[in-house]
Amino acid sequence: MTEFANWSGGLRFTPADRVSPASEGELSELLRQAAADGRTVRAVGSGHSSAPLVRTDGLLVSLDHFDGLISHDADARRATLGSGTPIHRAGQELLKVGLAMENTGDIDRQTLAGGFATGTHGTGRTLGNLSTQLAGVRLVLASGEVLELGEDDGDLLRAARVSLGALGIATALTLRLVPAFRVHRSERCAPWREVRDRLDELAAENRNFDFYWYPRKDEVKLRRINEITDDRPDHEVRRGSERDMVGWSADVLPRVRELRFHEMEYALPAEAGPACFAEVRERVRARHLRHVAWRVLYRTIAADDAYFSTAHGRDTVTISLHQNQDLPYLDYFADLEPIFQAHGGRPHWAKLFTLKGEALLSRYPMAGRWLAARRRLDPGGLFLTPYLRDLLGVAR
Ligand SMILES: Cc1cc2nc3c(=O)[nH]c(=O)nc-3n(C[C@H](O)[C@H](O)[C@H](O)COP(=O)(O)OP(=O)(O)OC[C@H]3O[C@@H](n4cnc5c(N)ncnc54)[C@H](O)[C@@H]3O)c2cc1C
Repeated sequence: MTEFANWSGGLRFTPADRVSPASEGELSELLRQAAADGRTVRAVGSGHSSAPLVRTDGLLVSLDHFDGLISHDADARRATLGSGTPIHRAGQELLKVGLAMENTGDIDRQTLAGGFATGTHGTGRTLGNLSTQLAGVRLVLASGEVLELGEDDGDLLRAARVSLGALGIATALTLRLVPAFRVHRSERCAPWREVRDRLDELAAENRNFDFYWYPRKDEVKLRRINEITDDRPDHEVRRGSERDMVGWSADVLPRVRELRFHEMEYALPAEAGPACFAEVRERVRARHLRHVAWRVLYRTIAADDAYFSTAHGRDTVTISLHQNQDLPYLDYFADLEPIFQAHGGRPHWAKLFTLKGEALLSRYPMAGRWLAARRRLDPGGLFLTPYLRDLLGVAR
């Protein structure tokens, strides 16, 4: 078998088998067989997660063949897409029928199912993470049966929105969408001191607002995106680190990341964001400037009700640390992680962190409901690897 490597190269393993079923029937049969053989099964999207969520010594399942727009209803603002559809392709196919996702993350190379499963988010005080757009899902369960969840399946859908790939394998997703819209993106740099007292105002004034902080220059790059309804032409102008861009949301919201990096991100109650960032900044400047030149990213997310959403029940600020793929990062992340935790932080499921078991679950008031849904849908633990058992405190 060939080795699997994730996007950053930090996760490598060799599954017993890697398969890309062509139909739900084939997928059901593969799951039944894996259960009979006593193997674990993990679904993989585009392999962008740093946490070892997809690691298995059993069966690794790609949903490459479950790709593209299946159906849509422009009036109801709903569309059903294959779960393995990369977000960038979803954006283009939806645009052709006059629809759009209301928000995306910083990039759009992830698959829809992979992005939803880990609570992937963009930025915007009034905008939920991507999984809040999930109105329905078709899951192939560990038993091989197909379960279709819709908006009336409150409890199970709230569990399935951020599923960690542990409830079943999604084959199709129905999304709650908005009419296609155009936006203006503006990026410019400023000294940190000019911005520090205006964070609330900037987040309130802009549809999408975030900033990168550059430790060595103590400077920030402010990124603002707002909807436009006039007919100014699409364009992109760059002057040094400044950028001005107009176009459809699917083209302008996500960016391209060429340089590979390691990342830790915590989601904090919105009111704790500024104080937590101030501590992070002080600590980086006091201890890490010599090795760390990479930026720190500050974003906002609206509260939602998915059981394992990092924004569950609270408006949220996220702070992410980045370090170049080839540079040491463990000491840096280990030194900063307690700061996030002391501010009530919940780690991004897909990125690097050390919290697990009760210390992690106690940060999610509805963790018990998620775990009950997992037991109900996968009583034999087909989708539970040693990593996930340890993470979720589920005994063998
Ligand atoms: C360069 C870069 C930029 C990023 N930007 C952001 C960002 O802006 N915001 C943010 O929040 N995160 C961001 N991330 C994190 C990224 O969005 C997550 O790691 C996301 O889960 C990756 O999706 P994927 O398709 O690669 O899924 P994978 O990493 O392959 O899998 C992730 C999870 O999804 C599950 N899964 C995949 N397919 C299915 C399926 N069909 N059914 C059930 N479960 C499934 C897997 O089992 C696993 O648990 C970024 C990561 C990188 C590397």
